[in-house]
Amino acid sequence: MKYDFLIVGSGLFGSVFAHEMTKRGKKCLVIDKRSHIGGNCYTEDSDGISVHKYGAHIFHTSDEVVWNYVNSFVPFLPFVNSPVANYKGELYNLPFNMNTFYALWGVKTPQEAREKIEASRIANANPQNVEEQALSLVGKDIYEKLIKGYTEKQWGRDAKELPAFIIKRLPVRYTFDNNYFNDVYQGIPKGGYTKLFEALLEGIEVRLNTDFFADRQAFETMAETIVYTGTVDEFFDYCYGPLEYRSLRFETERLETENFQGNPVINYTEREIPYTRIIEHKHFEKGNSSPVTIVTREYPDSWTLGKEPYYPVNNDENAALFAKYEALCKERKNVVFGGRLGRYRYYDMDKVIAEALASAKEWTK
Ligand code: FAD
Repeated sequence: MKYDFLIVGSGLFGSVFAHEMTKRGKKCLVIDKRSHIGGNCYTEDSDGISVHKYGAHIFHTSDEVVWNYVNSFVPFLPFVNSPVANYKGELYNLPFNMNTFYALWGVKTPQEAREKIEASRIANANPQNVEEQALSLVGKDIYEKLIKGYTEKQWGRDAKELPAFIIKRLPVRYTFDNNYFNDVYQGIPKGGYTKLFEALLEGIEVRLNTDFFADRQAFETMAETIVYTGTVDEFFDYCYGPLEYRSLRFETERLETENFQGNPVINYTEREIPYTRIIEHKHFEKGNSSPVTIVTREYPDSWTLGKEPYYPVNNDENAALFAKYEALCKERKNVVFGGRLGRYRYYDMDKVIAEALASAKEWTK
């Protein structure tokens, strides 16, 4: 065999795994069907701005090992994610906090805010849909202005038709704190995420524009072990049927202005506006002095085979279907199924890295 590991996918899982095994003296080949490395974290430099090609990516973690790991490849610039919501021209800070409550009701103390939320809540011990769930958690005002339209756009369905489990919790903060995440560490790689991938894959053979399924037989005989980070159902020829996803569509525009919206992320929470958010990429890197700006509108999209699969649809049917594929995965002793597509799960970046590190350790034993 020419290689110890054939790694299908140069996203975070594949790149971290390849780096760790190469460090341990193993010979790795990484292939990716896209024309670039980095998977969905890929950023492209344009006018001195790192453009997040597959949606805004903010690195946040409370895992010190993972934080030190990524910082050993590329310096991370400090960043605090503080998105703003635009509802019919009114602006509100997210996540729901005292700044949001002041803008909604003019309340100035946590006590007043609690009373307002309590007064508008519609208690429901057994909510049957997203609307009933949200109304019982945060009440009418927050639901109607900040949740309803956004969620309906995300899922392409009326909130009354969406199962309650989609919204498990709606964190409410009684402090003036616009930091979206609660994690200890947060940042953006200086110069963009692609720099992280270039460092991870340095000295490793990478073949781009190379689809595993275009020559599966040849690839399967090239290496002792395959690390597969593509869609798990495709690996097994969809023998039990396809797993479902939600997709996204991005519209990116270069504008001859220095500052378009004053914030990296603005969510549009009314249903009538078809996109869910506008990303202004330069604001992810503080101090970016490009004289122009690049913005991306993010549109939720239904998914069919062939479209980019972004978010797994976590309902009972898909969980049962994935369990059947998982049983097949366990039979393939020489294949590691990893990452968001291989495991049919939404993972934040830090979790994918932690899992790739653990998996590499496992294969070193
Ligand atoms: P991917 O990045 O998808 O990599 C898989 C790679 O495999 C791809 O490059 C693909 O081309 C390749 N591949 C697939 N099939 C084949 C094949 N047959 N042959 C060859 N190559 C193949 N996480 C955060 O922590 N913070 C965020 O702010 C954040 N924002 C996000 C925003 C959006 C819109 C989305 C969708 C996700 C976000 N994430 C975020 C999650 C983050 O994108 C994932 O954690 C990460 O990309 C997962 O890495 P991966 O290696 O599992 O998958």
